[in-house]
Amino acid sequence: MRVATIVGNRPQFIKVAAVSGPLRERHEEILIHTGQHHDPELSAVFFEQLALPPPDHRLGVAGAGNASQLARMLAKLAPLLDRLEPDAVLVYGDTNSTLAGALAAADRDTPLVHVEAGMRSFDRTMPEERNRVLTDQLSRLLLCASPAAVEHLRAEGVPGEAVVVGDVMVDVALAARTRALADTSVLERLDLTPGGYLLVTAHRAVNVDDEDHLEALVTLLESLPDPVVLPLHPRTRARLGAHGLDERAGLAVQITPPLGYLEFASLLHHAKTVLTDSGGVQKEAYLAEVPCITLRDTTEWTETVEAGWNTLVGLDASAALVALAKPRPLMRPELYGDGKAGERVAAAIAELSRT
Ligand code: UDP
Repeated sequence: MRVATIVGNRPQFIKVAAVSGPLRERHEEILIHTGQHHDPELSAVFFEQLALPPPDHRLGVAGAGNASQLARMLAKLAPLLDRLEPDAVLVYGDTNSTLAGALAAADRDTPLVHVEAGMRSFDRTMPEERNRVLTDQLSRLLLCASPAAVEHLRAEGVPGEAVVVGDVMVDVALAARTRALADTSVLERLDLTPGGYLLVTAHRAVNVDDEDHLEALVTLLESLPDPVVLPLHPRTRARLGAHGLDERAGLAVQITPPLGYLEFASLLHHAKTVLTDSGGVQKEAYLAEVPCITLRDTTEWTETVEAGWNTLVGLDASAALVALAKPRPLMRPELYGDGKAGERVAAAIAELSRT
């Protein structure tokens, strides 16, 4: 089969690292980079560190609001797919690149495969949630990380075929684990002691686009008792600057540029606790056996909360301090798969050609 894979942002490049190898053993893959993330530290570094195949096509669409970005991606994807004539379109996760790929595939009646289907925060004010729900409705093959995701699809009456393949990000996280634990050079560079610092990431629209919310985030950072390292997403950096909060943030925590996957994994594995509004990082913290405090009111990764390793605090600084003081849970059930999800994605796509 000829599979056109459409990606555009950091977590999607990481997912390609799990799937592209097994996919290319059975199928022809054409990799399309929409350009949604174009900064070298959010894009090129992942292609280098994770040895990804270079994109075959770059659409160069970035910036502006969600609607404009989506429209420009669609306008470029439609003629490209017409030219490539793929047998299937493969999209990942929940971004504008995901939805643009889904709409472009639907428009020419090409079977759509969605990896990470059925994830829900049940908060439709999040653009990511709207992207997921709409993409799932258009998908022929819905590849799910967990049985709970399949249940969500059933409850919404989604018509495509749902298959549990496990979580592709887990494949990459498990593969990086040994090196992340052994290589502490990034800690030495940042003058951090293993187990003696907090790792923070924040870039969700709801936390950084609104000035009051952004100030609450900075207040929360100021209240943290341990050394804090914050690899800063360009979106958050821009908003801190625009609202004159960059100096306060810089005094409260150690800010670094966004890090490559391997450096970030090393910081994550050696952190005392992770505070994040990222979806992927919550799960990676669980796999790394590091407690997580989530700077949101909802999560798609509810199992980590139920297991006691993740606490939702929104931007409430005192709730974050209470969560930080909690003892580590004694048990950590195995969740999210065995590191072979990428192979199952390739096998499920092969089945699609037979239907
Ligand atoms: N990540 C990284 N460098 C960083 C911050 C995060 O490599 O400085 C990785 C992290 O390990 C995870 C992914 O980026 O695999 C999460 O991406 P992001 O938070 O942008 O997306 P989300 O998961 O929220 O959609």
